[in-house]
This record gives sequence, C-alpha cells and structure tokens, in this order.
Amino acid sequence: MKSILSKFALAVLIFSSLQCFAWGLTGHRVIAEIAQHHLTSKAERNIKKLLGNKTLAYYANWPDFIKSDTTGVWKETSAWHYVNVNPQKNFQQFKDSLEAQKSPNLYTQIENLAKKIKDKNTSDADKKTALMFLIHLVGDLHQPLHVGRYEDLGGNKINVTYFGQATNLHSLWDTKMVEDRKYSYTEFADLLDIKADADVKNIQGGTLQDWFYDSQKIANSIYFHTPKDSKLGYDYNYRYESTVERQLLYGGLRLAKVLNDIFG
Ligand SMILES: [Zn+2]
Repeated sequence: MKSILSKFALAVLIFSSLQCFAWGLTGHRVIAEIAQHHLTSKAERNIKKLLGNKTLAYYANWPDFIKSDTTGVWKETSAWHYVNVNPQKNFQQFKDSLEAQKSPNLYTQIENLAKKIKDKNTSDADKKTALMFLIHLVGDLHQPLHVGRYEDLGGNKINVTYFGQATNLHSLWDTKMVEDRKYSYTEFADLLDIKADADVKNIQGGTLQDWFYDSQKIANSIYFHTPKDSKLGYDYNYRYESTVERQLLYGGLRLAKVLNDIFG
C-alpha cells in the first residue's frame, strides 16, 4: 500500500459531518463472515489472540455503534467511513485526487490501521481497536457511495423514493439494497461465497487504490441511473441485484486479503 504523501493540494474535499452507517448491520456482517472463511490458519490464530472466540462478524458494526457515544472520544473517527472524490478522467487522476486528501478519511485510515497493527510497539488493546475498525472500513470501501462525489456528499443530498418512502441515495445503498433481500448474514455469505480459488485470487488482486477506483466507477453508474427525485422499486432492485452481491463478496474476499497480509 502506497504512502499517502502527495503533491496535489486541492482537487478533492471531504465533508466531515456526513452521517453514514454503511451497509447497515447485515452488509457488514456478510463481508466479515466471508472474510472469516478465507483467513489462513496463521492469520486466524493471530486474530484470535486479539478478539478471543468472537468472530469478525461480531465486531463488524462496532465503528458505527460508537457514533452514538456521547463522551466525544470517538468523534473524529466519523470521517474515517468514507472519502468523497469527484469523477476523474482516468485511474491516474483518480489516484492523485485520492492521495491529495490529507485529513483522515477512509483511504488514509485503512492504510494507517494496517500499519498500526503491524507495529510491534502497538499494545494489544490498541491493535484490537484498530482491527475492529479495519473489519468495518474495508466493508465501507465496497459500498460504492462511500467513494462518491463531494457535491452531493456521496449521494446523501440526492433525494429519492423507494417503494413510496422518502429516502436518499446513500442511505438506500447503505441498508435497503441489502436488507430487502431478507437473508440472514450467514445465509447471504454462504450464497455468495462460492467462487473457485482462481477467481478468489483475481478478486483479491490489485492495489488498495484499484479497489477505491473500482468502487467509484460503480458509484458513477449508480449516479447515472439514479437522478434526484427518482421513484424506485422492484426494477431498481433488479437492476442492481448483481452489483450488491458483487460488492459484498468482493468486500469479504479483499478483507481476508488485508487481514492475511497483516496476520498471516
Ligand atoms: Zn461505516
């Protein structure tokens, strides 16, 4: 993973008060559960030292829960869940825009947390906290609108109706698109996690920047097909069924890759 140092100063901005509960409960658990299936035995052992007998899925939503903490200790972490990047012409420009952002965001934090866990001087308690964040944030990275545009705050400002109910594009993708499938997280993980080893390797390939670019390209398609005031229902679910499944599966397999690299 590349350093975040960059020469480009402006290009992109983030909006720190953006509320987001990416993927909702089920989506994050599906991703964590798929990752659990793909850990190497060494990684599994080392993770157990930090998490005990609880699974990755158990901790997958903790970074969203702490947004309700009233003591203020976690306040700064709410900006870690997303990064807004305006559409760019190509991968290089996207990467430059991503790396130009200096304030903590989804991209910088995934790199920082991985480094923190690998650092011998980090206490086990701090490693555990970093791990809980990492499980969650690699999930957020695969919710396309967490790598959305600045101007609409990752779809938060795009109002739509979904089966007659008022919502916004970001929130729709966070929860309803997953929850409406009516699977438990283990059912959903089992249904999706059926790729051959060679495909798994492929999906786990590429760099962290590639994965962000991948999400943004999907976000751009979502924007195109979902202008503001869209009235959405069954046809929308049908159109994006495979996208939702892909992102949950890719999120899980790539989370396993990140964790195997750190703990394996
Ligand atoms: Zn989140």
